[in-house]
Amino acid sequence: MGCWLIRNCRESGYILGFDRDEGTFIRYDKNGSEPFCNAAGPELLDIAITNYCERECDFCYRASNRQGSFMRLVDYELIIKQAEKAGVLQVALGGGNPNQHPHFVQILQKSRDHNIVPSYTTNGQGMTDEIYAATKQYCGAMAVSWYEPYVDAQEVIKRASAYGIKVNIHFMLNKLNLPQAMELMEKHTKLLENINAIIFLNYKPVHSSDALCLTDGNEIKNFFESVKKIKNCKIGFDSCMISFLPLMGGGLLKETVDFCEAARFSAYISENLLLYPCSFMNDISGNGIDLKKHSLQDGWRFGEEFVKMRERLSRPGAQRYSIPACQTCENYVMCHGGCPIFNINRCR
Ligand code: SF4
Ligand code: SF4
Repeated sequence: MGCWLIRNCRESGYILGFDRDEGTFIRYDKNGSEPFCNAAGPELLDIAITNYCERECDFCYRASNRQGSFMRLVDYELIIKQAEKAGVLQVALGGGNPNQHPHFVQILQKSRDHNIVPSYTTNGQGMTDEIYAATKQYCGAMAVSWYEPYVDAQEVIKRASAYGIKVNIHFMLNKLNLPQAMELMEKHTKLLENINAIIFLNYKPVHSSDALCLTDGNEIKNFFESVKKIKNCKIGFDSCMISFLPLMGGGLLKETVDFCEAARFSAYISENLLLYPCSFMNDISGNGIDLKKHSLQDGWRFGEEFVKMRERLSRPGAQRYSIPACQTCENYVMCHGGCPIFNINRCR
């Protein structure tokens, strides 16, 4: 039992519980229905504190590179104050490679100073003892991306465990790398005992080819069979994978699953302070809300993309790439039509 925060979100009709130490998160609607959205503001903010990344992967949805810029510390302070006021509980720091931000440790500390639990994902480069110590002191979780050469991720897992940190592995799943995902689950059993979870993220075709999008078929079914056999660590999925999760069959605990949370419980802020429902919209939508001119809460309540996103998630057929089968699908209650923005769903 850690340090629980219980909040009555009266305007939104539900109660939330958040364990700041363990990360457990519960929403409870007294009427027994699923809470749809937090009307007052996001519970989780995804913040790109930089677009700098030394790896320059060709599939990066932000096309991050060595010329990428860094969010100014004063700008981070501006948004973290607004976030606290809006009731944000957690920030997921990303980029780019966030730990390469020159003020990264201060950013972690400032988040905690404002009662917000930070977490982050690294590509494995630029991790220092100071950063591991600050991670242990301030963060709820950290993750490392599983990209070749895997030695980077393996080194992070090893060094983090010396600080008592169990990291998550983030694995971006596309049509071609399903065999590597299965290999990670089946052949790296010792390594997986030292991590918390593998989180599989659905590939999004932003700055890269849509030929890599996951499709239905035997390969993905075999992948889910491997998932079901895993015993030595937890497995998670980003909500962008939701339309594939029915393939888990009875192996899925429905209470632990939620559909796309963008504009319902989470939002994204870019390194130049533009607010969007989700990070993957940064480079496809010109409608980011400038947080130097508008408040986070106003953007959340009234921003055009936010209102549109909630509408897309509230009824079948409203997605950008609508799926006729959603109208009669028995999984709609759980899935809500998959991703409302990208054509990355199993049933497209
Ligand atoms: S809009 Fe699509 S890509 Fe963005 S968080 Fe939702 S499911 Fe994922
Ligand atoms: S048909 Fe629609 S609701 Fe059903 S699983 Fe596919 S995307 Fe989800």
